[in-house]
Amino acid sequence: MKVFRADLHCHSTCSDGTYTPAELVKHAVHIGLSGLSITDHDNMDAYETALPLAKELGLEMIIGAEFSSTHADQNVHVLAYSFQLDHPAIVNLCRRHQERRSERNRQILEKLRKLGMPIDEPIQEHSIGRPHIAKAMVQKGYVKSIDEAFHRFLGDGKCCYAPGQPVSTEETISIIHEAHGLAVIAHPHLLKRSDTIDFLVKLPFDGIECYYAKLGQERRWLELAKNKGWLVTGGSDFHGSVKPDITLGSSWVGEETFRRLQHGA
Ligand code: AMP
Ligand code: FE
Ligand code: FE
Ligand code: ZN
Repeated sequence: MKVFRADLHCHSTCSDGTYTPAELVKHAVHIGLSGLSITDHDNMDAYETALPLAKELGLEMIIGAEFSSTHADQNVHVLAYSFQLDHPAIVNLCRRHQERRSERNRQILEKLRKLGMPIDEPIQEHSIGRPHIAKAMVQKGYVKSIDEAFHRFLGDGKCCYAPGQPVSTEETISIIHEAHGLAVIAHPHLLKRSDTIDFLVKLPFDGIECYYAKLGQERRWLELAKNKGWLVTGGSDFHGSVKPDITLGSSWVGEETFRRLQHGA
């Protein structure tokens, strides 16, 4: 009997992944996944093609997105699931992020230009993120790898980083709930400061991503989920060739979790 596996975290070309939404859906079917959520950064554009194709191919989908939020100058990624795709509150949140990205991409490019690393490609579009800029820097020969671009220039707090107008984590959760969705802490192990975690634990999240990429289950996050009564979610954070060591389906959840998320708030 086929085991039900659903990858709840991956990115398409609608944000910083390299697979189109259709390629992601086909790839998920090809590797035997039963369920998938495409969680692009700050937008749900993938669903226009992904939903009808998934239906045709018999892959179950949960609507998702990964929202950028900020707490005390730290980036906190919030996964949202099963919200109403066209709810005005969430559509407005996406629009705010588009404006934030356009503005901060302009600022990042200006900082790079001042350091003698001009990039002329049309890279100011709202859907564009730092990985696109890093890729252009590699192509220009300014750095040897995407990793080097992040470590030296683009990473949080580095010299060419610009956050743009932030949206707080509390507001992000409240908008997701307003749109009848579930809010989940993404990749908690990437949160470096313990005071940030102490703060997040007090917020009204519905779940936490305990299974991530190639990491095994982390007892610390599973215990936290249990104490809080939160859902335990998981996903690969597949981005295609920008993160070549991570494969789709490398982390996943079973049918019970999938159904609970599917039913939403
Ligand atoms: P942004 O959404 O534009 O702030 O960019 C953040 C994204 O950059 C994250 O979601 C990751 O996909 C990616 N990222 C962060 N650090 C690295 C890195 N060292 N190498 C490659 N991609 C990275
Ligand atoms: Fe990303
Ligand atoms: Fe993330
Ligand atoms: Zn992600």
